[in-house]
Amino acid sequence: MSILIIAELVIAELVTEEKSIKAATRSAITAAKAIGAEIDVLVIGEDVNAVAQQATNIQGVTRVLVADNSVYAKPLAENFAPLVHSIAKNYSHIIVAATSFGKNLLPRVAALLDVDMVSEVTRIIDASTYVRPLYAGGLNATVQNNEIIKLLTIRPTAFDATQDANQAAPIATIAAVTDDKHLSRFVSEHIRHNERPQLSTARVVISGGRSLGSAEKFQEVLTPLANKLNAAIGATRAAVDAGFAPNDSQVGQTGTVVAPDIYIAIGVSGAAQHIAGIKDSRMIVAINHDPDAPIFQWADYGLVADLFETTAAITAAL
Ligand SMILES: Cc1cc2nc3c(=O)[nH]c(=O)nc-3n(C[C@H](O)[C@H](O)[C@H](O)COP(=O)(O)OP(=O)(O)OC[C@H]3O[C@@H](n4cnc5c(N)ncnc54)[C@H](O)[C@@H]3O)c2cc1C
Repeated sequence: MSILIIAELVIAELVTEEKSIKAATRSAITAAKAIGAEIDVLVIGEDVNAVAQQATNIQGVTRVLVADNSVYAKPLAENFAPLVHSIAKNYSHIIVAATSFGKNLLPRVAALLDVDMVSEVTRIIDASTYVRPLYAGGLNATVQNNEIIKLLTIRPTAFDATQDANQAAPIATIAAVTDDKHLSRFVSEHIRHNERPQLSTARVVISGGRSLGSAEKFQEVLTPLANKLNAAIGATRAAVDAGFAPNDSQVGQTGTVVAPDIYIAIGVSGAAQHIAGIKDSRMIVAINHDPDAPIFQWADYGLVADLFETTAAITAAL
């Protein structure tokens, strides 16, 4: 029994000059170790030999497979899925982190294999039994998957990232599946350059809600506090829909799931769909002028006060 991890790469210019393995992939490796089998990591892309080399050092990796071809220059799930499908029969499990990348890719692989997949796994009980949240995290279901090849997306915040070890696993090259089906094509990308920590991995996250009132106020109130705390800035869906904050800052069930050391919710009501994305935070701090706001049921520290006055005062005090 071997497990295949599909690596997700940090795309070059976003963070460093070099491509690298995303921390979420290291969490997928931790989940694989809980199953207990040999672990192959598949690195797909163009010019990815250096990334493959990095993967060889990750503790517990048995082998690194590389598919290096111009057809994989951009992570188009429609092109990656046939490649994963072509080697799937060698594995008992195929695991990828439940990021946008993994959520886009693995269902396509499942369809090609005609097997069920289990999504957003938060705990591995044994090789075929897993825990995953239901109803926006209101319930944890224990599910059993009896498919011959088990396909899982794992929630990265539920598993620590496996670190490097003093090891160098062998690398093997695999043949590209290059018959581009032209089901999708890469048009352009707009990279939002951001000096802040990434939302999904930041130690401190500050989120604002609809109550901030405008995009200008959203920045004006939250940015100075975020600067003081070196925090990532998140938003509720209502704030995103109102155009106060970019789409990729949405936290929650249909946004990013975060688990920082400190989550500060400013003018956030605490709807179930928002809570689904924050409840694994180590500490939740909430500022809301309504003492009955649901966020206070989740907050370790709650301040019933006007957000504009108090956020400025806290920032000044810091
Ligand atoms: C299928 C589905 C998926 C969803 N996914 C998500 C998701 O991923 N993430 C998400 O966030 N939401 C999601 N939602 C939306 C969610 O249900 C809520 O509508 C949303 O989270 C509310 O955002 P909010 O707290 O900014 O706004 P509101 O609910 O309007 O709350 C604003 C809060 O600010 C407080 N307030 C107002 N003025 C002040 C002030 N001056 N000082 C202090 N406090 C003040 C109010 O008391 C209130 O509690 C989803 C909904 C659906 C149906």
